[in-house]
Amino acid sequence: MDASNPEGALDAADQQLVDGVLAKQRRSLAKTITLIESTRADHLLRAQKVVAALLPHTGRAIRIGISGVPGAGKSTFIEALGLWLIEQGHQLAVLAVDPSSSVSGGSILGDKTRMELLCHHKEAFIRPSPSAGSLGGVAEKTREAMLACEAAGYDVILVETVGVGQSETTVAGMVDMFVLLQLPNAGDDLQAIKKGIVEIADLVAINKSDIDPQASAIARSQWKQALHMLRPASPNWRPPVIGVSALKKEGMVEFWGEIERFRAAMIASGELEAKRKKQALNWMWSLIDSGLRHYFHAHPAVHAALPGLLHDVAEGRTTPGVAANRLLHSLEI
Ligand code: GDP
Repeated sequence: MDASNPEGALDAADQQLVDGVLAKQRRSLAKTITLIESTRADHLLRAQKVVAALLPHTGRAIRIGISGVPGAGKSTFIEALGLWLIEQGHQLAVLAVDPSSSVSGGSILGDKTRMELLCHHKEAFIRPSPSAGSLGGVAEKTREAMLACEAAGYDVILVETVGVGQSETTVAGMVDMFVLLQLPNAGDDLQAIKKGIVEIADLVAINKSDIDPQASAIARSQWKQALHMLRPASPNWRPPVIGVSALKKEGMVEFWGEIERFRAAMIASGELEAKRKKQALNWMWSLIDSGLRHYFHAHPAVHAALPGLLHDVAEGRTTPGVAANRLLHSLEI
């Protein structure tokens, strides 16, 4: 593999992968995502070429992020929605960004008993979160996996994430629309409001509305109030709040109606195109940031000077500013 020419031609095996993905072969898609998720340097280069070859065939799907605390009913909801979407003629890919998986090695979609019906459906492709690396690294791979799924013809991409840490903002940065799945209880709502997640919600669905319809109605009105107090992110969209029941498969039509309404409004105003452009540029910058960091740590001059400078800074013999400057200048770029 020629490391100096990442845009060079694909080798025969990778061309086969690309052809397989474009021919909607699940096996090729799964192998492509495995290549994307690999942390081996030669695999990274191959994956880059494969994704570049797939890129012209992407962009037609609707990309939706779904977040909620563990137990909110995400997998039950995705299964109910997914089966309904398939009945409507859609093809659906489900990916995950799970910050806990990089710590525990587990994964929100790893448990095979989740979404059991959907798992076996040929119109659905379900992929657990990659478990290696930082949240940033995982997100990068999920973005590329999303493009591979689009090239394979899936027209609805759901990216699931848990309601902890930075994962929501990370996912919101790669999708067209971000949905919060909430439980009908006020404590939950307040948490989301405190964490600033409300700002990135394009739609709030109160799940488990079958248990206590009255509690669900109260939660809906609290959410509407909370959303009303915010300046809307788009002049063309006020995030709606709806009640659903994943278990009883209720609310799917209304849910999907809101998704389509949002998409139509964003396309008509040009906001969808602008958002995707901005996301692509942000993605490039975050790759540059991580690439520079990698280059920095791999540089022999940094390698040689770092231990001594770390010690000096910790002991107060050098200021952090002087040490950082010296290290950066040793890169000679
Ligand atoms: P996740 O952790 O967010 O993926 O949540 P799950 O989908 O695993 O659901 C957690 C629990 O809530 C399971 O026992 C589900 O059966 C239950 N559950 C999910 N949705 C509903 C719902 O709409 N109504 C009721 N009554 N239970 C639900």
